[in-house]
Amino acid sequence: MAIAGIDLGTSNSLVSVWHGGKVELVPGETGSFLTPSAVSIDEDGGILTGQAARERLVTAPERSATGFKRLMGTGRTCILGGRPFAPEELSSFILRRLRQDAEAYLGEEVAEAVISVPAYFNDRQRAATKKAGIMSGLRVERLVNEPSAAALACRMVNHGGSFTALVFDLGGGTLDVSVVDCSENDISVLAVAGDNRLGGTDFDQCIARAYCQKNNIAFDSLPPDLRADIMFRAEGLKKELSLRDSASLTISEGPLAGSLEADQQRLVDLCAPLFQRMGQPVRRALADCRMNAGDIGHVVLVGGSCRMPVVRQFLSQLLRREIDAPFSPDTIVGLGAGMCAGMRERRDEVRDIVMTDLCPFSLGTGVSHEGGDLLFSPIIERNTSLPSSQTKRYYTTVDDQRTVAVEVYQGEEMLCKDDLCLGVLKVPVPPAPAGTESVDVCFTYDINGILAVDVTVTSTGERFSRVFSDSGNLTEQEVGARLEELASMRMHESDALRAVREKVRRLYAQCLGKDRETLSRHMERFEKNCENAGLSQKKREIQRMEALLAGMDRYVSGYGRLPSDFEEVPEDGSTPLQ
Ligand code: AMP
Repeated sequence: MAIAGIDLGTSNSLVSVWHGGKVELVPGETGSFLTPSAVSIDEDGGILTGQAARERLVTAPERSATGFKRLMGTGRTCILGGRPFAPEELSSFILRRLRQDAEAYLGEEVAEAVISVPAYFNDRQRAATKKAGIMSGLRVERLVNEPSAAALACRMVNHGGSFTALVFDLGGGTLDVSVVDCSENDISVLAVAGDNRLGGTDFDQCIARAYCQKNNIAFDSLPPDLRADIMFRAEGLKKELSLRDSASLTISEGPLAGSLEADQQRLVDLCAPLFQRMGQPVRRALADCRMNAGDIGHVVLVGGSCRMPVVRQFLSQLLRREIDAPFSPDTIVGLGAGMCAGMRERRDEVRDIVMTDLCPFSLGTGVSHEGGDLLFSPIIERNTSLPSSQTKRYYTTVDDQRTVAVEVYQGEEMLCKDDLCLGVLKVPVPPAPAGTESVDVCFTYDINGILAVDVTVTSTGERFSRVFSDSGNLTEQEVGARLEELASMRMHESDALRAVREKVRRLYAQCLGKDRETLSRHMERFEKNCENAGLSQKKREIQRMEALLAGMDRYVSGYGRLPSDFEEVPEDGSTPLQ
């Protein structure tokens, strides 16, 4: 049984496997390595994932969701078609699809996965990711930090040479910056910093707001479908600006009618607050490992948002160097996760590689002070190499104190109420005047995110322990109940065909008059040709239709002309298929 490496992204996800002595990305049904991290529940309760679900963000926004990675571990839910779903459940649908793709690719069962997570994910978010894996029927023994995975893949391309890399990962919803040391067979993350609320979607929102402001549209009062529509088009304008210096967005009719012209400088101006936030983690990561820009050998760009020239330019200015990016920012983490899967399978080619991870946040306890609120007292500092074991002594604060409550917190904030509370361990102490009794609190944190807390009462030598684990293990009963419930929900088999249908539905809603008629005729012909077609002909039909629809997409979004082959609907069956 195989192990898969999975990059579970905010916008897109990828699966890779160790195959034939190397890591390989697994293409999905549509032939693309990227599966949009989108889920939609259709009108008969079936689950759509990937491209088909992404299309429905516009045509059926109240039944569809994306970006749920941002909600992992928060306890919040998304309502799809009137039914609440935890982000873990939505992620499990994506994982299930990726597992199926990998199984179809390998021709064998995939029972386990190594899933990558932002280095900045806290224990709760990591636990939620593991839960998602379990719900999709996968064993998840190991999570890997995304920058570690990227550095691993980077090392593969550099054939084991030694260098220090700055991994700048700007995806759809998160920014992670890491400094990674890559020696012959040793990959160690030296420092991580990040902002898990900053990503490409924030750029889309700045553009969408600017469009609405210019055209007197109240962005905040837009109903969900129009908001999804303008965000979708804003993303289109942003991507267009990754290809050319200037671009414009024009919507000729309807409640969103208006236009916005933008060039690179305008984009920088519109998104100025985002750039300010972007610099902070870079400076912090370098400072944490006492390095400066000159010590960095390679800048590794990760995440779709690094395709933006303005982001590269910003980094180039900040780090005072040319940014060469020989790797695809979309797939590098997926490749690294696949290498980790190979390492777990103990494959010869990667078995000697050692990965040293870091504690991405500080772990500590709360101490009382006169101001009232508990103050955070770090025991294991952020960026300590793992595994790590550290001890600190704490004294009683009141006369005749009977218990000491060791509250365990994770975070970087001064007041405990602003950090994440993982739990509490209460220990009895002999009554005595304040400040005379004490406890030694020992935190041991390992590479799998398991924190063991040992408290020793110094006067008696009595020892109390508790393990705080991010294992995400559900009880067997919980898994059974959840799987049973989810099994009653049908997953649509063909994503590719459904994606074409959903895209046509969206485009139909977006265009008018004669274009609608022509689109319907294209669709009729497509359905007819697919009806009794074999697998390979169906694939070619889908590819041809996808190419046509991509051109239409640019046209209706206001950036391109009507595709030249759109007006001519070929006769049934006579399509020259490439
Ligand atoms: P990821 O989470 O790494 O898949 O990144 C997704 C983000 O990358 C989304 O916000 C996309 O809008 C953005 N993105 C993808 N392609 C481009 C592009 N060509 N130009 C600008 N942003 C892009």
